[in-house]
Amino acid sequence: MATKHEKEKLRKIAELGCSLCRHLQLAETPTPCEIHHIRRSGVRSLSPVIGLCPYHHRGSNTSIHGMGRKRFEQEYGITEEQLLEKTESLIK
Ligand SMILES: [Zn+2]
Ligand SMILES: [Zn+2]
Repeated sequence: MATKHEKEKLRKIAELGCSLCRHLQLAETPTPCEIHHIRRSGVRSLSPVIGLCPYHHRGSNTSIHGMGRKRFEQEYGITEEQLLEKTESLIK
């Protein structure tokens, strides 16, 4: 079960829109996003999350799941962890 605090955090992350679109300055307004879980070892429900739009989340050749994390990071010049840092700093 997600706590109230966690739900609040998810809402804020969703409001920020796609973290990559934001980084690449592709849009003036936040791009509607899906929640992407960053895989670390351990329990999935505790894994940190970032917002990614469908295009950057699951597009076949444009997304973290379509290309895999390594290629995604090379392609866009930013790591998943850096996107997480930016996201976290914006919702504090
Ligand atoms: Zn995006
Ligand atoms: Zn994902």
